[in-house]
Amino acid sequence: MEYVSTRGSTPALGFEDVLLSGLARDGGLFVPAHWPSLETAEMRALSDLDYAAIAARIIRPFIDVDVLDDNALAHLTRDTYEWFDHPDVAPLRQIDDDTWLLELFHGPTLAFKDFALQLLGRLFEHVLDRRDARITIVGATSGDTGSAAIEACRDRSNLDIFMLHPDGRVSEVQRRQMTTVIADNVYNIALGGTFDDCQDLVKALFADHALRDELGLSAVNSINWARVMGQIAYYFAAAARLAVPDEALTFVVPTGNFGNVYSAYVARQMGLPISRLVVASNRNDILYRFFANGEMSILGVEPSLSPSMDIQVSSNFERLIFDLMDRDGAAVDAAIRAFRADGVLPDAAALCDGARGLFEGQRVDDAETLDVIRDVHAQTGVLLDPHTAVGVGAARKTPRDGLKRVVLATAHPAKFPDAVEQATGLRPALPMHLSDLLTHPEEATAIDNEFDAVRDFVRAHAVAAW
Ligand SMILES: *Cc1c(COP(=O)(O)O)cnc(C)c1O
Repeated sequence: MEYVSTRGSTPALGFEDVLLSGLARDGGLFVPAHWPSLETAEMRALSDLDYAAIAARIIRPFIDVDVLDDNALAHLTRDTYEWFDHPDVAPLRQIDDDTWLLELFHGPTLAFKDFALQLLGRLFEHVLDRRDARITIVGATSGDTGSAAIEACRDRSNLDIFMLHPDGRVSEVQRRQMTTVIADNVYNIALGGTFDDCQDLVKALFADHALRDELGLSAVNSINWARVMGQIAYYFAAAARLAVPDEALTFVVPTGNFGNVYSAYVARQMGLPISRLVVASNRNDILYRFFANGEMSILGVEPSLSPSMDIQVSSNFERLIFDLMDRDGAAVDAAIRAFRADGVLPDAAALCDGARGLFEGQRVDDAETLDVIRDVHAQTGVLLDPHTAVGVGAARKTPRDGLKRVVLATAHPAKFPDAVEQATGLRPALPMHLSDLLTHPEEATAIDNEFDAVRDFVRAHAVAAW
């Protein structure tokens, strides 16, 4: 498989280079040059397979056999998902007549990001071994990404990971899931600034091309194609268990950076019958306004009960725009530049028309989120985390069409105990394997919000030698 940039001015690359470089040099995101597809009979056959085997089948066309042969791929997905805490890996749970939760929080850090990042860590190791190379991963996190990335990269011999989080601005559980990982190749940086400052510093590190080459800088955020790739399989797995391909499904996806719901779009491009994709937003509703009104304009980010969705500019949306613009990279480049400069996406109405047949936006605010958590608990005994509750709230706002609906449960309720307690009076307990999280020693380095200070720290500690 070859990959092209959404901005159209980087030569096509193979999977290994796409994995290691993250962002394209022209500033675009990599997407496959064409969409592979599955025959109906192949989709039907998925219902005989376990999760790891389904993942291997779905990932197969995206990685050339000379990079990873069938055996190695099967071994890799098996090793990735056998550590998950549930025999089904991504179990379904029915919550009313036509609605199921797809529980994606049985991985090591209790959020759906483990599905792609656990795979990504192993792919990095495999590809770097083949090339006898090292890389330096730098990332910024406001919570879930950081812990999932650190857990996926810890103790891997050919990479170092530096994760910046805003000092004092992430929840205690989220911070401890990062800072209690004591490993030679893991560096937690507590930055004296906001999440945006962290992101700006990471971008500045990547923009320093000399440093980028010297240290082999690489990204694990959801702009990396392998993140998207690692999230496609659970849509097929859910459909296989709910008797598709004979029946189309609606998926409802709590959305921030548009990565997860974009993976659903890819599943549909590969042939999975999906009738509708509901993009569920919290009060940070730029995507809702796009799908409802055909306009896209940036407002300030406001904190909500579902912090992993507190995003205005969803980076993966560029991948959808690329298809909506008939894969015209120059046009995407011009549109994104105008959007960044003016805060308004030009010709959004035409793009929206192209997307509306499949996508629908819904907005669920904090008060509604708490109501949903309370209601679902009262009716079913199930505790929802606030992100999943935004999804269930969005499903309730979407007119019923007689089809089965699957809401993605993106985090374990114990990861956001305050919101759950506020709604129900119950404080969900952490699963056994994390029960001593609150007593483990922590390790992090406090650094001022200054480019030179961060760059010097990274350079001094990265043992990269390309
Ligand atoms: C990251 C995250 C989201 C948003 O996912 P995107 O792929 O960024 O749209 C939703 N819920 C939880 C719990 C998350 O960690």
